[in-house]
Amino acid sequence: MSKDRSIAVVLSVNADTSPDAVIQPRLKWRASKRGFKRTCPKCANAPLFRAYLKSVEHCASCGEPWSEIRADDGPAWATMLVVGHVVAPLFPFVIFAEGMSDWAAISILCAVALLLSLWTLPRMKGLFIGFIWASGALTS
Ligand SMILES: [Zn+2]
Repeated sequence: MSKDRSIAVVLSVNADTSPDAVIQPRLKWRASKRGFKRTCPKCANAPLFRAYLKSVEHCASCGEPWSEIRADDGPAWATMLVVGHVVAPLFPFVIFAEGMSDWAAISILCAVALLLSLWTLPRMKGLFIGFIWASGALTS
């Protein structure tokens, strides 16, 4: 009896013939990469953001709605993870550099961390939006 149920479930999953599932499967890696490039995760033909971190309402090329996907704190967390792993190894080299004052060393490290964070944050937000969209988290 339970064997019949499992077969029925498999058939119902495989019977998903929606246009999205048949024509264009949502590949997480591809969508994340397109989001990281700050382009539409679905088509990659239009920008994903209309401002620094403000996503467009709909894709100008394919019409996919992007304003519903909230990445929340994920991009900030990922940015801190990346920037911390890049800046922390530089710390001893800059702090113990010959002839450099402590204020100059701290200023250099802060500037590197700030610029790298500003560069990374929108890319991480695009990556998260692409991954969330590809995983279908909003539709299930
Ligand atoms: Zn698009």
